[in-house]
Amino acid sequence: MNLAALLAIVVVSIAPSLQQQLAEAASGTTEHVWCLTGMLASSGYHLTSGYELPSLPTTVAGQPGVVASDTCGPVLAVWHNHPIAAGESARDVLYFTKTDQHTFIWYELAPIAIVGAGDKWCYWTRDQVLQGWKDNLSPLPAVPEQCV
Ligand SMILES: [Zn+2]
Repeated sequence: MNLAALLAIVVVSIAPSLQQQLAEAASGTTEHVWCLTGMLASSGYHLTSGYELPSLPTTVAGQPGVVASDTCGPVLAVWHNHPIAAGESARDVLYFTKTDQHTFIWYELAPIAIVGAGDKWCYWTRDQVLQGWKDNLSPLPAVPEQCV
């Protein structure tokens, strides 16, 4: 099935103050995970606040004591950033990797997944992520209508 056919029936917006915090977190070379909350209105999900997960799982070899990350639990959206490498634009890294899909489907409860890069971001609904996983999309591409 085409992802656009599963176009989100909800619209996701992020409050300017929160977006500023997220853009800052997404400006570096480190990956961060934020749990976002807010409200569900007739216009869609309006995300207004969030907090960073204290421990991000790392794949750095030879680092003892690294434990599995916490998860966000029942929040509206899980945001993480993809660092932008030299020569890349934000748009180049706005996708949902196989690992992202796996983590979101099995470890998170939120209905919305968001990837940020610099001050740009895209979101996917849980249905879209599930469909992408089923279709073995690696990575799950951005849906232009769901990107800012
Ligand atoms: Zn990712």
